Amino acid sequence: MIESCPSCNYALAGLPDTHACPECGIEYDAETCVWPAVRPRSILLASLDLSSVLFPAMLASLSIATPFLRPFLVAVLVLSFGVGGWQFALAWRTYRLGPLVAIVRRGLLIRMAGPTPQLIEWDRILRADVVSVLRRSSVELRLHGSPFHQNVSGVFRTRADADAFVAAIESRRRREQAGS
Ligand SMILES: [Zn+2]
Repeated sequence: MIESCPSCNYALAGLPDTHACPECGIEYDAETCVWPAVRPRSILLASLDLSSVLFPAMLASLSIATPFLRPFLVAVLVLSFGVGGWQFALAWRTYRLGPLVAIVRRGLLIRMAGPTPQLIEWDRILRADVVSVLRRSSVELRLHGSPFHQNVSGVFRTRADADAFVAAIESRRRREQAGS
């Protein structure tokens, strides 16, 4: 079960496993998988910058600092909060609107830039591959009609990630095409 809509990020808690997003209408089910470029865990890590880690030390030194040094220490503290908050906002924005690849009921959803993802329906997909060259990776699809090549750098962290994606596409595609 996914926690939020892969297309618009609407919270799906409490809704059935198979349903359509009340916000954008994307249909999902228990087998819907999402590969976002930013994981929720890395949002937290992004906001824990070095200055935030130093926060307790700064606070302790504030109590023993001379009156002359205190305004300087307070300024550093405020700045460290600012930097942490800014990094959090940036990571959150990338999580919400950044690159992702998702397998949903009607097909493969790919979003790279901007809020609107594209949906490639199952009956168009012949084969999927993930090609990685150095740190860049892209999804290559063989479609009925036209070939499709989409840069998805940052979405698949490991080869195992990419292999799981290709396997999921393949099994889903077979089932969808056998069923229709
Ligand atoms: Zn949605």
